[in-house]
Amino acid sequence: MATVTLDDITHVYGSGDDAVTALSDVSVRADEGEFVSIVGPSGCGKSTLLYLTGGFLDPTAGTIAVDGDPIDGPGTDRGVVFQEYALYPWKTAMENVTFGLSHVTDLDAEAIESRARAELARVGLEGDADKYPTELSGGMKQRVAIARTLAYDPAILLMDEPFGALDDQTRELLQEDLLDICTETDRTSLFVTHDIEEATYLSDRVIVLTAQPGEVKTVVSVDIDRS
Ligand code: ADP
Ligand code: ADP
Repeated sequence: MATVTLDDITHVYGSGDDAVTALSDVSVRADEGEFVSIVGPSGCGKSTLLYLTGGFLDPTAGTIAVDGDPIDGPGTDRGVVFQEYALYPWKTAMENVTFGLSHVTDLDAEAIESRARAELARVGLEGDADKYPTELSGGMKQRVAIARTLAYDPAILLMDEPFGALDDQTRELLQEDLLDICTETDRTSLFVTHDIEEATYLSDRVIVLTAQPGEVKTVVSVDIDRS
């Protein structure tokens, strides 16, 4: 469990005439166990905000911290799930999960295998561990990607439109399962979507990023009453 804070973040891609200010002076926080969605129109900087929090990009200005400690690049305290599943096509579902784990934990092979099995079961794929990505539907591939991320037990889950490529029915199933998983594990979650309905369904709080051409970007934070 952890709190993640982004303070006065500005991010500029490129320089000179090609400079694009993706985020300007944006502050966001997600408290321990809180599920926070970030919504806003295409191009408002949602993905940039998530990549920064993942440590894949360094902000031009501002500080990102986990429990008060500034981050320094990617770390196993923050797990990411992207819209594209990024599974290795030549590895089975099981191998996709264990491969990542063997890189980020010092568990022995047996412990890694049993943890991977448990995470695949958690996302409903206990019977599909030996299938290759080409044998899995889009929804199932995203389940593998979620299991892979959960397997190393990150305190913070960062998700960038994870259900964006799925049909409506599959998306609804995965949304329900994600809610169960998040409640069960009490993780801190930052979830990027352009779908306000998805955001309100999943979240404790929704942060709206707005981008008016030529104007400073602003954030609006709305608490969701989920009772
Ligand atoms: P969103 O996820 O809300 O659609 P992004 O974070 O992807 O927004 O993009 C924010 C802005 O930064 C957009 O204007 C986009 O064109 C620009 N941008 C994103 N990535 C790059 C990049 N690698 N180089 C230059 N500009 C970029
Ligand atoms: P989508 O293809 O839209 O992601 P789902 O993930 O909801 O669909 O798949 C629905 C069900 O159909 C799955 O639970 C699975 O049993 C089956 N299925 C779909 N595509 C495949 C496939 N390529 N191989 C095996 N089973 C599949």
